[in-house]
Amino acid sequence: MHKVKNKDIFKASWTYDKAPESTDHIQIKKQYDLFIDGKFTKPISAKYFDTINPSDNKKIAGVAEASDKDVDKAVSAARKAFKGWSTLTGKERGKYIFRIARLIQERAREFAVIESLDGGKPIRESRDIDIPLAANHFFYYAGWADKLTYAFPNRNAKPLGVVGQIIPWNFPLLMAAWKIAPALATGNTIVLKPAETTPLTALKLAEIIQESGIPKGVVNIITGAGETGAAIVNHPDIDKIAFTGSTGVGKYILKVTAGTHKKLTLELGGKGANIIFDDAAIDQAVEGIVNAIFFNQGHVCCAGSRLFVQESVADLVIRKLKDRMETLIVGEPLDKNTDIGAINSKKQLQTIDNYIKIGLNEGGEIYQPKCKLPKQGNWCAPTLFLNVSQSHRIVQEEIFGPVLTVQTFRTIEEVIEKANNTPYGLSAGVWTEKGSKIFHLTQKLNAGVIWANTFNKFDPTSPFGGYKESGFGREGGLHGLKPYVKFE
Ligand code: NAD
Repeated sequence: MHKVKNKDIFKASWTYDKAPESTDHIQIKKQYDLFIDGKFTKPISAKYFDTINPSDNKKIAGVAEASDKDVDKAVSAARKAFKGWSTLTGKERGKYIFRIARLIQERAREFAVIESLDGGKPIRESRDIDIPLAANHFFYYAGWADKLTYAFPNRNAKPLGVVGQIIPWNFPLLMAAWKIAPALATGNTIVLKPAETTPLTALKLAEIIQESGIPKGVVNIITGAGETGAAIVNHPDIDKIAFTGSTGVGKYILKVTAGTHKKLTLELGGKGANIIFDDAAIDQAVEGIVNAIFFNQGHVCCAGSRLFVQESVADLVIRKLKDRMETLIVGEPLDKNTDIGAINSKKQLQTIDNYIKIGLNEGGEIYQPKCKLPKQGNWCAPTLFLNVSQSHRIVQEEIFGPVLTVQTFRTIEEVIEKANNTPYGLSAGVWTEKGSKIFHLTQKLNAGVIWANTFNKFDPTSPFGGYKESGFGREGGLHGLKPYVKFE
């Protein structure tokens, strides 16, 4: 049994001076057009919408809204480019993908600042995680482009054709990289749509794609909201849809593509279990809990949003977790000390606030640290819910914010049953000193990704994807090439 000692070890009341990242080096246009056939083109409808900075709700830029006709133009450009791109040698294709990777690296600071301005995530995360990982994805798949015969030995792998790719707002550039890099490596041409609240880094990526000299029409990036996404999904000349987003929209896409020739991969929502055994290194586990749920304001499909702690260490873990939460800095995304940035949109903040109310009404015991929240913008304090059970809505439904539910367990069988008792199956984490326990759990948990003694670690070489209502298909690694090829 662990004894509770060293009370309040984290409450050392550190204060930090402001450490704002400079914005001098970034260039954002007042208005962005659609990137079709290698050039920026005005939308046929002449309609534009605003992209907003969620830390003050002020407009950053106007962004074109693609109509059905614009989608059609983008698909035609991709179709026209397909023959040339798919018959280039793998080595040539790889050359362009390498170039894109290097150009992202060169402009990494600019990308990081724009990602934080447009999406609200802390600059430390966009600088150290999103942007380097996006570049790494292009580097990794550039390496595969001329090695497809090794990826699929004795099989003649051919590209599918024109792929439609739709991505969410939580990791805007990274999700674009996850989609574009493997599709290019395998010889497909692309129409990609970023989310309506975070289009800027995808449009910056379009500038890089132009600069890379890749043949025109190979990558088309068009902006808009759900209607534009639906026009991509329903376009008859698209051969594959790759979608990352909510389970609700995923179900719609599954329905409308059923019975068509379109191939489909769906990366959807999650409600990951993070399991702490009594033999775990407790301080590391507490840090892991924080990283699992408060990283990127909890806007993470694979977030560890359900914590399960073995009963004998529950008091200790919860006390240490509360102490650690007191030190988290919530605020200005561009400040290098910030741990938790702005909630991505007013709408998402309403969703999270609503779930907090539901949790309270269901009898959950709430804990939030005494952090100061800025007056303007969209903010949510890191939140724990104790005294909850499996039937509570906040335990079952994806909140997609910095809200953690805490439950306890006694036996390994009990925690496996509780962890699997959800419609989702995307991620899980296990904290224990015992390797055999880790192997036992990884066999039993229904999750596409399971971390051991860590959480939210991503690597381009490693496949990622879900089971059940978290979707199907894998992105990353060798597995990530397969959804973009057919065998002849
Ligand atoms: P969302 O489904 O509302 O939107 C995702 C994208 O789909 C956006 O680009 C949106 O414009 C578009 N879209 C909306 N309606 C559409 C329609 N009818 N047809 C086609 N496209 C449409 O999701 P969101 O709120 O932007 O993102 C959050 C969700 O994404 C969460 O559920 C999260 O778990 C999930 N997500 C999953 C993964 C994963 O890899 N499994 C990764 C990141 C996010």
